[in-house]
Amino acid sequence: MAWNTTSSASAAAGSLLVAFGWNVAATWPGMRGLRRAVGAHWSEQARVVFPHLGTASIVAIYAPVTLGLAAHALDAGTFGVVSVILMASAGAILGSFPISRAIDPASSWSRWPVAFQFWRHQVVVLWALGMAMPSELNVVGCGMALLWLAWVAATNLAPLRMGFGRSNILPAPPGLVARARRIAEESNAPFRGIHLSRTAGHNALALPVSSEVVVAESLVRELDEAELDAILRHEMDHLREPTWMTLGRVVSANAHGVLLLAKPVMGTFGHAGIGALMLAWLLPSMGLGRLARKFESKADAHGAGADPMAFASALLKMHRKALVPAVLERPGTHPHLYDRLIACGFTPDFPRPKPANVMSLPGALTAAAGGLMVAVSLGRWFGVGGL
Ligand SMILES: [Zn+2]
Repeated sequence: MAWNTTSSASAAAGSLLVAFGWNVAATWPGMRGLRRAVGAHWSEQARVVFPHLGTASIVAIYAPVTLGLAAHALDAGTFGVVSVILMASAGAILGSFPISRAIDPASSWSRWPVAFQFWRHQVVVLWALGMAMPSELNVVGCGMALLWLAWVAATNLAPLRMGFGRSNILPAPPGLVARARRIAEESNAPFRGIHLSRTAGHNALALPVSSEVVVAESLVRELDEAELDAILRHEMDHLREPTWMTLGRVVSANAHGVLLLAKPVMGTFGHAGIGALMLAWLLPSMGLGRLARKFESKADAHGAGADPMAFASALLKMHRKALVPAVLERPGTHPHLYDRLIACGFTPDFPRPKPANVMSLPGALTAAAGGLMVAVSLGRWFGVGGL
């Protein structure tokens, strides 16, 4: 079938709708679970809804590549495939809004433009570039790999513009800037500035490459001064991490970039090459997990140094507001909240909850469908396995 501009545009619009419906349907059990848990303790509500948030992210990652590869199988051509990937990504992100709103009614539909700011969604950039990649690492292939590296460098060196988007960043009030400067000096941390974010949920984060701290706008309202200072002390500890750890964080956060080479590697080395790529993708993040938790505990000790109770109550408020569980089935980059509280000498007023899952069944099925689609398409492109 020959695709023209009209059929490409219709397929792109269709994929936006399909991906939207996909994410709403996949996360619907989470919204229903949350409605049923009304009146339960926040830690139980968080345990119920958290796996569905994981699923929302998985759909946003895998629905675009699955639909893009389906378009490819229908001979859509590079323009058609890339438009399907971008629109499916926008649809899947918009489809995650209802569950976000169920958790936090302040998270509004007016954030819709974020779904179309493709350069901020690194996996989508990766899928689109990877699918347009030639089958061998020629000049065009090397140029595209360099483009990806330049994009990674830009998002790390200018995270406010590239990662958050200027319109989502607000200047911090002068009082907060002065307190942050004082805490940075006390902590002997390299510090270039503090900013408020409209999109950081109920969180604060350190950007060690650019030596900046970003605090969610909502935290300034929800935390008192002592609590916010304790969180700033925690972030300042991240800013003074050794360079090798900062590099490790950047490599692990962008390790999926090696997937960009899937087509040329498959063309040159076959399945063995793909196995090596998968290892290069997965090993850095697996290796970094334990190390990241060690640095997190160190940052907690520094954060709690001046006022442990203020630090503990800030962590509790942030988790309660965003419904992030107190215990997960496996810790990620952070230790469990319950253990962090106890480590600062604070006894929670609720029993240790059952661990929350990180993904629900529709998420696991979506990831499996995406993986299968990639394997089948690679086989088809290179005539392996008779597909
Ligand atoms: Zn931290």
